[in-house]
Amino acid sequence: MINPVPRVRFAPSPTGYLHVGGLRTALYNYLFAKNCGGQFILRIEDTDRNRYVEGAVVKLIEALKWVNIDYDEGPDKNGNYGPYMQSERLDIYKKYALELVEKKHAYYCFCTPERLQSLKEEQQRQKMPQAKYDKHCLHLTKEEIDNNLKSGMNYVIRLNVTEGDKISFQDIVRDRVEFDRENIDDQVLIKSDGYPTYHLANVVDDHLMKITHVIRGEEWLSSTPKHILLYNYFGWEKPVFAHLPLLLNPDRSKLSKRQGDVAVEDYKDKGYLKEALINFVALLGWSAGDNQEIYCIEELIKKFSLERVNKSGAVFDQDKLKWLNEIHLRSKPDNEIIPIIRETLKNNSFDERIFSDEYLGKIIVSMKERVSFPQEYVLNCRYFYEAPVEYDKETATKRWKEDSAKLMQKLIDEIEKLDNPEKHDYENALATASEITGSGKGNFIHPLRLSVSGTGSGPGVYDILDIIGKDETIKRIKKAIAVFS
Ligand code: GLU
Repeated sequence: MINPVPRVRFAPSPTGYLHVGGLRTALYNYLFAKNCGGQFILRIEDTDRNRYVEGAVVKLIEALKWVNIDYDEGPDKNGNYGPYMQSERLDIYKKYALELVEKKHAYYCFCTPERLQSLKEEQQRQKMPQAKYDKHCLHLTKEEIDNNLKSGMNYVIRLNVTEGDKISFQDIVRDRVEFDRENIDDQVLIKSDGYPTYHLANVVDDHLMKITHVIRGEEWLSSTPKHILLYNYFGWEKPVFAHLPLLLNPDRSKLSKRQGDVAVEDYKDKGYLKEALINFVALLGWSAGDNQEIYCIEELIKKFSLERVNKSGAVFDQDKLKWLNEIHLRSKPDNEIIPIIRETLKNNSFDERIFSDEYLGKIIVSMKERVSFPQEYVLNCRYFYEAPVEYDKETATKRWKEDSAKLMQKLIDEIEKLDNPEKHDYENALATASEITGSGKGNFIHPLRLSVSGTGSGPGVYDILDIIGKDETIKRIKKAIAVFS
């Protein structure tokens, strides 16, 4: 074959959610395809009926859609190589398994679970490094096989791993990889329920779907020698392999639910932006080698190469993800943040319709440097949407002094004089009140902030006044005077 168009695939087994490791695999496949003008395929590997989860495929597709990882072919798209759900391809696998049986590279096995169990126990007693099938059924005659099949005995079809050299292959990430043939079991290809195992279905599909590069997680590396054997036995050209490094918790254990979220959906729900998640996940095992850390998808496509994926495990650093979220959030245009603010307002029982886009735009400007997540535009500054319901106790004790009520009343007097005030007018009003009373500005600013926001921190107090406006400011100061007097 001369330079075929690169074709890669993401081949998840649907579990009900998209794991961040799966997202990394999908993303690298996508980036690779887009970078080299190739095609990216979504194939659903749903042949393990014990792990079937209702609605899982829909969820997975939704998660991919959310992050904008679009595929050229897949279960919900047209394509010349479908169906793209393995459970709809059972006849194909059966046909190819029988082809291997015909070629003596596979055989029927009628062993009962009890026999297999006692074989395993015996091998453990003999301290064999790993349990392996003893090829008992390889030696059945054709007649025996036919009779067993006719009488409806349960069977599986196994790969017939023969003696020979080591199995080796070139991996883009790991260079040369070698496996001892004697460690490879006569892998089941077709299970007793008629479904193929991952190994058979995966190889058959990668071949039929003309996959040129298999880019997947390192956890699949130990399966690859079995796949190499299958390619050899079928006489098919092998794809290029690239096994991506493991994702690790900060303590370098394998990334697990126990140490944080692993589902893309969880990150979405927490307010992580797809841009930040994609940026973060792209750097889990890849770097362009130039210390750049902030990327948009277009840049990633331009710069990505499998050659720059490293072997060592990549630590999933939640702090870095949060930092990236802040960065991406800051560069998001208001028209993308406003709908999220509106949604958050609704979810927090506010009537979002009473706030204009202009009003929300002002809040965005004042809070930009203070938020990590879009919903914090509501949750960290509820005072922009309603008068404080309660006041922070510590701030109140510290900041509301004996003369505060008097000073605040003086400030009200000055503010009342203002006509259509802007930010600097409030500042001047406070300066005047300070001058008249001979009390320092700080004696105004702190109780003022407490009055209008209920807290002791936040954006500049004049920004708050400018946003909530003159009437609301006066109303809130009056209320505070009443509460604290
Ligand atoms: N079905 C496997 C998974 O769930 C696919 C592994 C591969 O890409 O070969 O990840």
